[in-house]
Amino acid sequence: SEKAFVMIKPDGVKRGLIGEIVGRFERKGLQLVRAELMQLSSETARIHYGHLQSKPFFQELVDYITSGFVFAMIVEGKGAVKNARALIGPTNPAEAPPGTIRGDYGLDVEANIIHGSDSPDNAEREIKLFFRSESA
Ligand code: ATP
Ligand code: MG
Repeated sequence: SEKAFVMIKPDGVKRGLIGEIVGRFERKGLQLVRAELMQLSSETARIHYGHLQSKPFFQELVDYITSGFVFAMIVEGKGAVKNARALIGPTNPAEAPPGTIRGDYGLDVEANIIHGSDSPDNAEREIKLFFRSESA
């Protein structure tokens, strides 16, 4: 079955939301197959957000994502990528519906608590970037 890369960002970790968020994935039926609390180098952050390099907020985004620990995970199950994104909700928490993670816990478009892969190809790329020994 499919794997998705999910990462609780520094604001989510600092606010003590790891247990709450992991519980949502578990209750949905997506299995946690690997997880690690880690601090990203700016090199890894720049690779991860390479598609946003030309955005005016790029440097701020790199500073934010490297500002503390993140909780990186691999979740597995049917349609893991799509289903994880559905649990997470739209990019801007101020517009995300209640019931989604961003809708329930955030208001800031940058500090939006959590990341989820947006395609199976990107999931594979991200899993290899964050968990070097993992075969997707
Ligand atoms: P993610 O990739 O983190 O799951 P996403 O796929 O919903 O989020 P992307 O377009 O990939 O959204 O943007 C990546 C991240 O960049 C966002 O999650 C957010 O932290 C930040 N970001 C996006 N748009 C803005 C913005 N307008 N201002 C500041 N930060 C932004
Ligand atoms: Mg994205």
